[in-house]
Amino acid sequence: MENKWDHFYKKGYAQRLQLIADSVGLSDAQLQLIHQNEDHASGELVENNLTSYPLPEGVVTGLIVNGRRHLVPMVTEEPSVIAAASNGAKLLSAGEGIHCAIPEKLVSGQVIVKHAEIKAVSKFVETNRQQILNIANQSHPSILKYGRGAQKVAVRELSPTFLSIDLSVDTGEAMGANIINTMLEAISNWLSDQLHVETTMAILSNFADEEVVEVTGQVAVDKLASRSLDGRQVAQRIADASEVAQLDVKRATTHNKGIMNGVDAAVIAFGNDWRAVESAAHAFAARQGPYKGLSTWQVVGDQLVGKMALPVPIGFVGGASKVLPLVAVNQQIAQIHHSQDEMQVIAAVGLAQNLAALKALVTDGIQKGHMALQLKSLALSNGATTQELPAVLAQLRQIANPNSQTVKEILKTIRR
Ligand code: NDP
Repeated sequence: MENKWDHFYKKGYAQRLQLIADSVGLSDAQLQLIHQNEDHASGELVENNLTSYPLPEGVVTGLIVNGRRHLVPMVTEEPSVIAAASNGAKLLSAGEGIHCAIPEKLVSGQVIVKHAEIKAVSKFVETNRQQILNIANQSHPSILKYGRGAQKVAVRELSPTFLSIDLSVDTGEAMGANIINTMLEAISNWLSDQLHVETTMAILSNFADEEVVEVTGQVAVDKLASRSLDGRQVAQRIADASEVAQLDVKRATTHNKGIMNGVDAAVIAFGNDWRAVESAAHAFAARQGPYKGLSTWQVVGDQLVGKMALPVPIGFVGGASKVLPLVAVNQQIAQIHHSQDEMQVIAAVGLAQNLAALKALVTDGIQKGHMALQLKSLALSNGATTQELPAVLAQLRQIANPNSQTVKEILKTIRR
């Protein structure tokens, strides 16, 4: 029997929208909202497109990376993220700023082979290494215009049943998922012909351990003083918090979520695949077995020194970067012209975000700063208009632990 949702993707935009509206009873105002945000260019990116979903964008100022000052556009729905990143950036940029280095930038992928002899496959790959790299490059010839192309191939035994043939590729300015997938499929076909083996799959690996940014930053301990603690005490408490994130998965996960608050917001602003960066970061945090905090902080003399190694598998071109018009604007705001600059700025924001979160956590507690900013979101989500916001916020700030009911009561008084 024909279902009304069958071949939904083949219907025109108006038909699709009508079908949804009729099925769930969308109001005229809701339909208007959908139309208002509709953007044909970004609609082309996804199937069954309905509208575009706007998220707030703000800018972090004062981040200095390798001696260059950057404004960093950040896209996030979480109220405290940009304020915290700006605070961390200011602390870390008081001295020389943040230093970043990228030892190598290679995208990796794998061809999984089943029921093959490791010795035979290893010998074959060793003997035919250059030919395998050539086949990879020939499958995507334009890559040699942009980067060095396929660079490394190695064999790993996963179990007595499965082997992984790992390929590493310089994909130029692109994140490279599509590029390497094309290459891996070509290699997979050739290998199964030559070796008469079954290949299970050929696909990019999101374990981006050859695209790691090494970040260091430091702040003079006396810049960290709070109302009740001197700077050295705060610095030691931040170092203690970072040690706990090396010891305990419960804390490490939250520590890393704080880093990714900044990282994701910048990755989204630059039009990149944040799921790829997220999965790479968390897998990297567990690369030695136990899942650990991605950054560490130590008191060294009169400085608090932070270090982090973070995979940042992004591209300056490709993916959605040329389709979403704000990406080019954001790249210009950040004064970024290459993928490696973008990777460094993103990782630097992660370290700044981490410092601000740890400082708040070990001094006033996270809620104080959070709630000051969450008040806006509390007011707006309970019906305050932007015009009413200043008056509502002024009253909310006087109240301990305000909630939805508090906002509704304030609105009632204001509107009377
Ligand atoms: P694209 O295929 O969109 O972009 C790469 C293309 O950009 C190149 O093939 C090249 O095309 C062109 N290009 C222009 N200038 C350059 C340059 N300087 N350096 C390199 N390429 C250049 O994207 P990617 O291969 O980067 O793949 C990223 C996309 O893949 C993202 O959207 C991601 O979400 C998605 N993806 C992610 C997966 C994952 O993470 N597991 C899996 C599959 C897809 P030309 O040769 O025509 O000039």
